[in-house]
Amino acid sequence: MPSLDNGAYLERYDRSLMGVYGHPKAVLTRGEGCYVWDADGKRYLDLLAGIAVNALGHGHPAVVGALTRQCASLIHVSNFFATAPQIELAERLVSVAGAPSGSAVFFANSGTEAIEAAIKLSRRTGRTGLIAARDAFHGRTTGALALTHKPAYREPFEPLIGSVTRIPLNDKAALRAAVSRDVAALFLEPIQGEAGVVAADPAFLRLARELTTACGTLLIIDEVQTGVGRTGTWFAFQQAGITPDAITVAKGLGGGVPIGALVTFGPSVSGLLTAGQHGTTFGGNPLAAAVGLAVLDTIEADDLLAHVTSVGNHLVGSVAALGHPLIRGVRGAGLLRAVTLSADVAALVADRALSAGFIVNAPTPDVLRLAPPLVITNAQIDSFVSALPTLLAGLDRAP
Ligand code: PLP
Repeated sequence: MPSLDNGAYLERYDRSLMGVYGHPKAVLTRGEGCYVWDADGKRYLDLLAGIAVNALGHGHPAVVGALTRQCASLIHVSNFFATAPQIELAERLVSVAGAPSGSAVFFANSGTEAIEAAIKLSRRTGRTGLIAARDAFHGRTTGALALTHKPAYREPFEPLIGSVTRIPLNDKAALRAAVSRDVAALFLEPIQGEAGVVAADPAFLRLARELTTACGTLLIIDEVQTGVGRTGTWFAFQQAGITPDAITVAKGLGGGVPIGALVTFGPSVSGLLTAGQHGTTFGGNPLAAAVGLAVLDTIEADDLLAHVTSVGNHLVGSVAALGHPLIRGVRGAGLLRAVTLSADVAALVADRALSAGFIVNAPTPDVLRLAPPLVITNAQIDSFVSALPTLLAGLDRAP
């Protein structure tokens, strides 16, 4: 294979790939644990994990083992047939979600597809109204995009589904005013990741549950970014003590292999979509399902939920101990975190971090987002925290 450096690859990238992601920062060639390497041989600590995807880091033996074993026996069958990994993963998801008997799973291939399935599910209530939160991100397919807030993502593609009411997150009065018997579903992220790691208050989620139950509206919790242990529980909604009608899952579930899922809670919601009403060729394929099982098994066997909570708390403490004037604090839960800054310099800091060998991103101008592999250690976190003063040097106001 010809050896090419970052620059040569990226020139070819620009000539051959659609420009929707802009210009990539580097070409990555391999990963191991919490580190990745680029085509120039430079090593990075991966504090973003493919945006909350590589739950077990890179090249984890459980993922590699499940992939290689499964691809040697069966990679794909049509949905005319079932496979053991598909069935076992569905059972495990229902179990770790604490969903009641009669709950069910629809497998998709991404977060946005899980949301599409949820939107179609909601239509089967006979209602069309939807509620989503301001600043929400639910994906880019046209149904999910209608629920996504950011005008720059949405407006070039309008008209989309028209019946979406947007309410400010954590605004109880707006929630009360919006939920009615005309509304099919309320979609909420327990922590808005793309908006800069902004949490829904547990009391807001509980009120959402109360109001939607009273109006026969589905409460659909989007756990695409927060699920599969990322916040220290299997799913973030569990920390608010609510039972949703459905959750959407993707990202971390496949440990890097594309998979998405809609989990419906209880028999009446699970019966809304019937034979022929939804489907996808690759959904629930045995390869992705086997890896999903390996991810869940490893989180359980290695007690990673407790680890996530502990390392997340360590991060909060270490950043606070810096006492840096440009750092407001750390918010979020577990290992979905924002280091919030008192100036709009996050994009510049993320670039500096990359040069210094750390992958983070800046979802908003004053937020550095960290969503590292769940297996990251305190020492690896400390290597980034101790670099922060250098990364922030001279940035006491926006450039
Ligand atoms: N929902 C949430 C909360 C997300 O964070 C994302 C992606 O960032 C999506 C949905 C869309 O998932 P995907 O990019 O896999 O389509």
